[in-house]
Amino acid sequence: MRLDARTIEDWLRTTDPAALAELWGRADAVRHEQVGDAVHLRGLVEMANHCQRRCAYCGLHRDRPLARYRLTPREVLNAARRVRTAGYGTLVLQAGEDPGLTCGLVAELVRKIKAETGLAVTLSLGERDDATYAAWREAGADRYLLRFETADRRLYAELHPGEPDGYRRRLGRLLALRQAGYEVGSGVMVGLPGQTWTSLAAALQMFADLDLDMIGLGPWIPTPETPLIGRVAELGAPDDEQVTADVETATRVLALARLLCPRTNIPATTALAVLDPERGYATALTRGANVIMPNLTPARYRDDYALYPGKGETWRENSGGEERLYAMLGDLGRVVATGPGHSPRYLERGGGLTQEEKTCCRP
Ligand code: SAH
Repeated sequence: MRLDARTIEDWLRTTDPAALAELWGRADAVRHEQVGDAVHLRGLVEMANHCQRRCAYCGLHRDRPLARYRLTPREVLNAARRVRTAGYGTLVLQAGEDPGLTCGLVAELVRKIKAETGLAVTLSLGERDDATYAAWREAGADRYLLRFETADRRLYAELHPGEPDGYRRRLGRLLALRQAGYEVGSGVMVGLPGQTWTSLAAALQMFADLDLDMIGLGPWIPTPETPLIGRVAELGAPDDEQVTADVETATRVLALARLLCPRTNIPATTALAVLDPERGYATALTRGANVIMPNLTPARYRDDYALYPGKGETWRENSGGEERLYAMLGDLGRVVATGPGHSPRYLERGGGLTQEEKTCCRP
C-alpha cells in the first residue's frame, strides 16, 4: 500500500482511540492475509560484544567498560545445534562490529553450520566491504540485518561522531547487501532524542522505497554510560515534535510498516519485551509482527551483550521462557511456523537477482 508522508505522520501522531483501533485492526488483517498466522522463531546467538564503533546510544560502545567476549567457533556451532533441536528454522548471528570476526572465520563457520544443521542463517555483524558480504553469501548466509537507525541524516551524524559520511555509507551497505543477493533487513529505533515525527514518517517511506525483506524496530532504551544519556536535553526536539520511546509508539510504526510492506517479515523485538515484559511480544504480534527471535546465546555471556539494560532478563529459558512463548502464541490463535521462513517479499521478487540477472539467467 502507498501512503503519503502526511498520512503516515497523522497516523503516528493521532490521539484518537478509534483511529488507533482502526490502525491495529488493519495491520493485523494485512498480516493475516499476506503472511498468515504462523510465527517464525529465529534463534538469536550474540556471538561477540567487541565493537570498534562509538554509536552514542549503544551499550557495546567501544569505550564503555564491559567484559568483552567472542564465542569460539565450537561454541557457535553448539548454539546452532541447540537452535536446530529447539525446532527453529533460522539461526541469527549478531555481534558488535568486531574485526576479530574475520571474513574467513565467519565464512568457514557459516559453511559448517549450513552443512551440519541446514538452518537458514541470518547475519547481523555490521558494516563490511563488498568482498566480505559476497564471501559470506557464497558460504551460504541467507539474510543480513543492518538498521539505518534514523532517517534523519543530521541526527545520524550526531549519534555517530567522527563519521561525517556515515549515513551515506550505511545506506550504501544496504544496497551492497541487496546486490550480493541477501534477504535484506533494516529498521530504526523509535524515540531517539532528536527524532521528529516527520523524520519517523520518512523512515517508514524508506522501508517501502528500499523494498525491505525484513523490518526491525524497537523503542530506544536509555543505556547508562553511553554518550547519548548526557545529551538528551541538547538533542531533544521540541515537545510536540519529539517522538516518544514507548511500546505504543513503536508498535504504531510496526503497524504502518506492515501496511506499507505487506509481505515482509517483521519481528516482535526484544526491546519491546524489555519495556513491557508481560505483553510486549503479544502486543507486537497483534499489530503486524510475524516473527520472534528467542535468545539462545550461552547464558554466561548474555549479560555482557549489554545493548541496553534489562535485555538479559527477557524470556530466559530457565524461567520457563519457551513454555510461556508457546502458551502465548496459542492464546493469540497463532501457530509456530515450520521451515526456514524466508521473506515472502524476497521470494516474490525473485531472490536477490537484479533485473538483468533475472532476464538472462532464468528459463
Ligand atoms: N553491530 C551490528 C548489530 C548492532 S546491535 C550493527 O551495527 O548492525 C542491533 C541493534 O540494536 C542496533 O542496530 C540498534 O538499532 C539497536 N540498539 C542499540 N542500542 C540500543 C538502545 N540503547 N536501545 C534500543 N535499541 C538499541
